[in-house]
Amino acid sequence: MDSSSFPEVESSSSDINNNNNHNSSAAAAAATSSSAATLSRYENQKRRDWNTFGQYLKNHRPPLSLSRCSGAHVLEFLRYLDQFGKTKVHNPICPFFGHPNPPAPCPCPLRQAWGSLDALVGRLRAAYEENGGKPETNPFGARAVRLYLREVRDLQSKARGVSYEKKKRKRPPPHHTVAPPLPLPPSAGQG
Ligand SMILES: [Zn+2]
Repeated sequence: MDSSSFPEVESSSSDINNNNNHNSSAAAAAATSSSAATLSRYENQKRRDWNTFGQYLKNHRPPLSLSRCSGAHVLEFLRYLDQFGKTKVHNPICPFFGHPNPPAPCPCPLRQAWGSLDALVGRLRAAYEENGGKPETNPFGARAVRLYLREVRDLQSKARGVSYEKKKRKRPPPHHTVAPPLPLPPSAGQG
């Protein structure tokens, strides 16, 4: 049997055509080991995001290569994603502006939630460097992107009446000590 017909080598990074292998998630679902499952879910999500971004670049007019991609293009991408968003963001003139749970529908637009965008940018930023990009030219780490995310967070927290303080986790102690306390020297009297 000749096994050479399917080289194991992945396509070179310059060619992302026909790279549509869908990993079935059945195997992933079977594994319930929490940290491992979380990690692989993150890795899968990251790969999917990276493919989506690659697709976006490919369909971009005028054509855009990854090496010429700037923070401005990342913003363009994030705004493009808003059309698929599911988070209602009220306009300031909407009577439900600032209401976390509006009692009735309204015509305000659906957007990507800030938390989703923030996590997405983090994954793409990592993927960019894993795919050979240099940290200093990473468009996902651009200042403009950071500012945009902050703006989105402020706007959405006002419009939705929610706070994005980190309170999903166990409440951290109010005092965040920067330096750990010095270890006490072992008391005398050893032996
Ligand atoms: Zn509204």
